[in-house]
Amino acid sequence: RTRDSQELIRAEEPVLAHNYHPLPVVVARGEGTWVEDVEGRRYLDLLAGYSALNFGHRHPALIEAAHRQLDRLTLTSRAFHNDRLAEFAERLAALTGLDMVLPMNTGAEAVESAVKVARKWAYDVKGVPDGRATIVVAADNFHGRTTTIVSFSTDETARQGFGPFTPGFRIVPYNDLAALEAAVDETTAAVLIEPIQGEAGVIIPDDGYLAGVRELTRRKGCLFIADEIQSGLGRTGGTLAVEHESVVPDMVLLGKALGGGIVPVSAVVARREVLGVLRPGEHGSTFGGNPLAAAVGTAVVELLETGEFQRRAAELGTTLRDGLTELVGKGVVGFRSRGLWAGVDIDPALGTGREVSERLMREGVLVKDTHGSTIRLAPPLTITGEELAGALAALEKVLG
Ligand code: PLP
Repeated sequence: RTRDSQELIRAEEPVLAHNYHPLPVVVARGEGTWVEDVEGRRYLDLLAGYSALNFGHRHPALIEAAHRQLDRLTLTSRAFHNDRLAEFAERLAALTGLDMVLPMNTGAEAVESAVKVARKWAYDVKGVPDGRATIVVAADNFHGRTTTIVSFSTDETARQGFGPFTPGFRIVPYNDLAALEAAVDETTAAVLIEPIQGEAGVIIPDDGYLAGVRELTRRKGCLFIADEIQSGLGRTGGTLAVEHESVVPDMVLLGKALGGGIVPVSAVVARREVLGVLRPGEHGSTFGGNPLAAAVGTAVVELLETGEFQRRAAELGTTLRDGLTELVGKGVVGFRSRGLWAGVDIDPALGTGREVSERLMREGVLVKDTHGSTIRLAPPLTITGEELAGALAALEKVLG
């Protein structure tokens, strides 16, 4: 006998670590913007795997690329070359306007890799005395969960009980160029920021901030690392969120949607002078750059090369913004959005973000709260105008 949703939820409790608090829905199938639970109830997926599903569930071109590769070769390790990696790197570099690619698997690994590369660059190229390199980051950042990454988090839940922490980081307020200017000195290897802070609640910096970071880092002789793991690959209406200010960072970190929602694929993409500092043996990953990841990643890049998804995100982003504007004062206190990505602050009198998410779930729409009474909307970029209107109507209903 197959177990129903309630039984499956109860079965997880004793055997799975309690590091998540999922909504009480057990998903069994997915297609496009929709998922279906064990009982066959259908839900519009407005989280899209924290933007790992930018192309929806099981996009035919991505599934086909994966199937084709599964039938040929899945893993070599980087001890050997594989016949898929060169094309993936060439096309990803071209897509981002940078030169070289370091393939990894998860987002956190891409961030860790960038920290290592920036430090090595500081010692080898900039001439920072050994062991003295610093990296400047922003308060309320989210870059992942490893010990080094939580070392520069300002979220106590992410840090409490996990020390001792990795030194070498300076934290400044986000969206504050004067604070950044004061924190950067001759030891600074890099400034690492999210172009839009996702987990913090889709916090969009003032126009001019990203261009200011670019100008400042260039003038002070340190690297600009943009963590585009959540903001990148079409979400905001451009290939990268930094395009909004026509900025090209020294390093761009990609993950999530790069694996098409099929396999974990991440990458550090950078200028040749930067990634060129790595020598054989200094860094690696058994699965990084594997042929299955490269095949799916190349298919993802191919979808983005058409510009169709960026265009959809920009156009439907207007619908999303207009819809949310209508709800301000009707249960919505305020919101921030760019492209198909929004952080919506719910009137706390109407419930926490969690409670609103649960109510939306019962209306057939899946979202996730970020902090307090903020929910995040990040549908697959394949969503139709009709589906988006349906989601907004559901939100209006649960707030009414
Ligand atoms: N960086 C950003 C901006 C993210 O949003 C995330 C995940 O939410 C990460 C890094 C970490 O990625 P992963 O969960 O794949 O390690």
